[in-house]
Amino acid sequence: MNILSLVRQNIINLKPYASARHEFEGKASVFLDANENPFGSPLPGEKAYNRYPDPLQWQLKFQLAKIKGVPAENIFIGNGSDEAIDLAFRIFCEPATDNVIICPPTYGMYEVCAGINNVEVIKVPLTPAFQPDAERILTAANKHTKLLFICSPNNPTANSMARQTVLELLQKFNGLIIVDEAYINFSKQQGFIGELTSYSNLMVMQTLSKAWGLAGLRLGLAYASLDIINLFNKVKPPYNISQAAQEMASAAIPNLPIVNDWIQEVVEERALLAQVLGSFAFVEKVYDSDANFLLVKVKDPATLYDYLASNGIVVRNRSREPLCEGCIRITIGTADENLQLIQRLNDYE
Ligand SMILES: *Cc1c(COP(=O)(O)O)cnc(C)c1O
Repeated sequence: MNILSLVRQNIINLKPYASARHEFEGKASVFLDANENPFGSPLPGEKAYNRYPDPLQWQLKFQLAKIKGVPAENIFIGNGSDEAIDLAFRIFCEPATDNVIICPPTYGMYEVCAGINNVEVIKVPLTPAFQPDAERILTAANKHTKLLFICSPNNPTANSMARQTVLELLQKFNGLIIVDEAYINFSKQQGFIGELTSYSNLMVMQTLSKAWGLAGLRLGLAYASLDIINLFNKVKPPYNISQAAQEMASAAIPNLPIVNDWIQEVVEERALLAQVLGSFAFVEKVYDSDANFLLVKVKDPATLYDYLASNGIVVRNRSREPLCEGCIRITIGTADENLQLIQRLNDYE
């Protein structure tokens, strides 16, 4: 499949912004090209941010390449995954003409980005087992369908999408499939990074916001073919990732072992919490989770939500989402936080 045939004509024609840092590639010691402040930054300490950052974040990408097994040039870094999602719409979807397919219940940003970009959303709900329905997806797609979002593990249902179904879609769907793996670190399932070289219509998204504990830095990762990554680099704002975020993330990457310990702890706490929650009379079902949260079906979600909130514990009421009637979503906290939750629930009813 030729992915470039899906791209909007104005994006193909676009002459990208050439930044000062981009134009000059040699070695120099006097930078009078970018209208920066030459003195420094009015910050305590030595740290200065008066220079524009590397537009393509090469140092961070080389570090990520090593731990992810993806060449640095096949990585895109966005100001959160949300930026990467928005760019996908802007690159591929002609407003008021093209459409995308999502499989509710799923992450809300896909539909919000579609709305912002005036792109139609075709909803093909997950099956009652929370799996994508390949046949219905392929039937729903038409010549204006550019993107298919598959969130795996899915938010808010917490389960992974069946590998065989996603592979079938990669073979048959005539558009770009974005597999959103924001929660992949918590999953027993293998992700789709290994399929990138086999499918030109695959983009895998991950984030440093969840397992990595860097939500405040806003760093989303996307992996795809060079053709696709080049388009993202062409359309993104030139300096979309701040110097501070690049430096902080670079300093965090070597601490992967700490992150892996946290992931293991979350997975253990998830099993404990699921077991305890399942023992409450007001809990009807605790769904299997491959993520750092549990979807829990309860008798009266609104009352439970208010009760917990009045005790200073916030969870997410997802009961208005399709297939999630009666459900709340609970993020796995520290052992102590989970214990506080359980103690409050012991006093409920
Ligand atoms: C949390 C989350 C993200 C992460 O978004 P960022 O903008 O990178 O923080 C992406 N996808 C899903 C499904 C999520 O739940």
